Amino acid sequence: MQTNLAGFVKARAEHNELEKIIQSCVHCGFCNATCPTYQILGDELDGPRGRIYLLKQMLEGAKVGVTTQQHLDRCLSCRSCETTCPSGVEYGRLLDIGKEIVETKVRRKLVDQIKRCLMLLVFPYQQRFEWVIGLARLCKPVLPSQFKQKIPLVKWVDDWPQITHDRKVLLIPGCVQPVLAPSIDVAAARVLDKLEITLTPIKSTGCCGALNYHLSDHEKAKDFARKNIDACWPYLEQGAEAIIITASGCGVMLKDYATILQYDSDYAEKAKRFSAIVKDISEILVDEDLSVFKAGNRKVAFQSPCTLQHGQKLAGVVEFILQKIGYDLVEVSNTYSCCGSAGVYSLLQPELSEQLRDNKLKALQVEDVELLTTANIGCLIHLQTKASKKIIHWIELLDENM
Ligand code: SF4
Ligand code: SF4
Repeated sequence: MQTNLAGFVKARAEHNELEKIIQSCVHCGFCNATCPTYQILGDELDGPRGRIYLLKQMLEGAKVGVTTQQHLDRCLSCRSCETTCPSGVEYGRLLDIGKEIVETKVRRKLVDQIKRCLMLLVFPYQQRFEWVIGLARLCKPVLPSQFKQKIPLVKWVDDWPQITHDRKVLLIPGCVQPVLAPSIDVAAARVLDKLEITLTPIKSTGCCGALNYHLSDHEKAKDFARKNIDACWPYLEQGAEAIIITASGCGVMLKDYATILQYDSDYAEKAKRFSAIVKDISEILVDEDLSVFKAGNRKVAFQSPCTLQHGQKLAGVVEFILQKIGYDLVEVSNTYSCCGSAGVYSLLQPELSEQLRDNKLKALQVEDVELLTTANIGCLIHLQTKASKKIIHWIELLDENM
């Protein structure tokens, strides 16, 4: 596709990247077939090809307004279109930069601004989030049902293993998951302990920055990234084997630090080294002898989060692990499709999000499936609001059956 970027875009460090991405799209439209919003709304401008076109026009200097912003807001950033695209169009990168530019050109309604501001003030900060959740749990009986559903129960948490092994991997706990489901990281530590690997949380790390990044607050997201790199750096220098994360949504962000900080002269090289050793926990387990885990013929359904299959390109890895251990994994239709969680999408686009959640649950809760599993805290909480079966992180499933 021919492009003629506007002067204000040419002044940005990413202009070559943007030009390359736009030019790589051949407008075939294959991506529409696996785009959840296009499938529901049937509007070309709510599919990847249409959104690329809108972004191209904006980057070439056309005026943008609320309509363009709404089509971009409805995008889940699920990157299913990237998996489908035969031309390797890096849609996610184009969208993230494009949305940030649109944000500077289109003024949102005051109520939207307040909503986004509150989210950015609370979610990325563990302690603030803990307070809000604590308060919400206290007020649960009087809250409207749509909020009630989103407040998870407090779960009993097992002890972190105390034995130290020769093999050590590091953990970035993140911000939201330790509050909503602290049992997940403990389960990861216990599973790795069984494989004679010590999991050490790096407590001085914080939010991965994904929320800020996807809400177009790129500078703050980069700050989070730099802080996490600094916190992990001494361990990298000591030759750490890997940095793991149990939430696939945060994992993809950590792996993207290399891209996000590529124009930062102080951090570009560090970010490259950092992202190279970040692994989803499934990438560690897939190479291990898993005979210590016993599945006991349990029938489970796995929801593969978009951030795992499309973002981190790890489609099929968790499924392979679960089947290797002996779980009876049910076949899930439309596995490529998002469950509608997508960070804070469920709060910003509730109608679309609920429709996607219901479709996903219909695909997962088949036959006599015993329980549902996933790999991302956001998907877990979102699906839990309507699931009739228990849903847990797949690493907890392994821990339960040790
Ligand atoms: S993004 Fe890829 S699949 Fe979609 S229209 Fe462009 S080239 Fe075709
Ligand atoms: S990221 Fe997902 S929702 Fe957005 S255009 Fe691509 S497939 Fe559609």
